[in-house]
Amino acid sequence: MAIVKKYLSKDKTIRMASIVSTDLVQESIRHQSISALSLVLSGRLLTGTVLMASQLKEDQTVGVYLKGDGPVGTLFAEATYDGRVRSYCSHRNASQENLPTLGAGLGKGFMEVVRDLPFQKEPHRGTVAIQTGEVADDIAYYLRQSQQIPAIVSLSVLPDENGCAYAGGYIVELMPGYDESTLDKIERIQAQVPAIGHLLEGGATAQDLISDFLLNIPFDELTHPHEVVYKCKCSVERMERSLMTLGATEIRQLISANEVMEVTCEFCGKVYEINPLQLQRLLKQIT
Ligand SMILES: [Zn+2]
Repeated sequence: MAIVKKYLSKDKTIRMASIVSTDLVQESIRHQSISALSLVLSGRLLTGTVLMASQLKEDQTVGVYLKGDGPVGTLFAEATYDGRVRSYCSHRNASQENLPTLGAGLGKGFMEVVRDLPFQKEPHRGTVAIQTGEVADDIAYYLRQSQQIPAIVSLSVLPDENGCAYAGGYIVELMPGYDESTLDKIERIQAQVPAIGHLLEGGATAQDLISDFLLNIPFDELTHPHEVVYKCKCSVERMERSLMTLGATEIRQLISANEVMEVTCEFCGKVYEINPLQLQRLLKQIT
């Protein structure tokens, strides 16, 4: 069971969230084969997005796109405050061969963060350039640039022959009212923390991942009683809507083939059957 642990420093200038996300990352690849490189980068994004969502409010959702020119292509993860997450990788079999770093798997491009707020017509969007492509650095850069929040972001996914051996991460964010000495302090602590991959491999809990911060700074734990689950929100209607974006010409061609089409959800692997009658109805709606 995956649970986000959340803490706020007693002086309210530092907030932290951490999670062991092994089960979530494993569930995200249950329906598909994936290379180690694609797994590591998409698992990091899934974990980081869950942590970002945990700092939202009830009924809010955050979606994070990483669109690069590297072999991994586009990554997307979407998470809600109350703990639903799903993720997608456009090139699941990207190879690490000849790449100088993992981040080169994403390459150059941009990161877009879309926050859906209830009672607002338009979602809030923020875009920054991909920095290292290692995902954690990119989320930290986004938080600083787009939301003026200095942050430490640490994410790790360890692949094995069965998929994901361990995954987890934490985000430490400074809140309005912090001063330079607070920033110094968390950076000094971060420099002493063992590599997160080692902690996860040793069986660390979400709380263990940030124990050095908890030991050195007075914190209160915040309640966040939401179990995080990998859950897709696909439906026939959503699949039909995405088919409509193909346009009339393409849909006419599909109708003339007179076959039942199979459309697979990219997030969860569920297969939807769309018959020619349904296609006729879609065509009517767009012509
Ligand atoms: Zn789905």
